[in-house]
Amino acid sequence: MQLTYDDDNIFSKILRGDIPCFKVYEDEHTLAFMDVMPQTPGHTLVVPKESAITLYDLSDEATLACMRTVKIVGQAVQKALAINGSTVFQHNGEEAGQTVPHIHFHVLPGSLFGIKGHASGMAEPEALQTMADSIKAFIDGE
Ligand code: 5GP
Repeated sequence: MQLTYDDDNIFSKILRGDIPCFKVYEDEHTLAFMDVMPQTPGHTLVVPKESAITLYDLSDEATLACMRTVKIVGQAVQKALAINGSTVFQHNGEEAGQTVPHIHFHVLPGSLFGIKGHASGMAEPEALQTMADSIKAFIDGE
């Protein structure tokens, strides 16, 4: 069943600037910011500005824009953490574990194994800001 997009969701509010985020990157089609409940330090989210719930609802143009941003952010995350591996994942629908109904990509330093559970605890704002600044510096420096 196709759900109707509800622009009351938290990422829609972030995109509108109604609530703040720790931004690392923005362009015409996408926004990237720190996950406030990181599964590991450096956990970053990439969202399209287009309103869509799942990847399957998203236009091809916005999908490509997201992939481009995922690459930019993922490379910067690896540099910021001085690591050579990262994981990109994405949930489609509640049944798959999606909790925010606006399509987004998770960029996670390292692997999914042995890390904290999904959306399981808030990080300190100072730590998120420091991490965002570090990732952003590698994006801006390119
Ligand atoms: P999903 O479960 O939909 O794949 O992922 C949603 C993600 O959004 C989770 O990792 C969760 O920690 C994160 N999240 C939930 N609320 C907020 C918020 O208000 N701000 C930010 N930056 N991330 C959030």
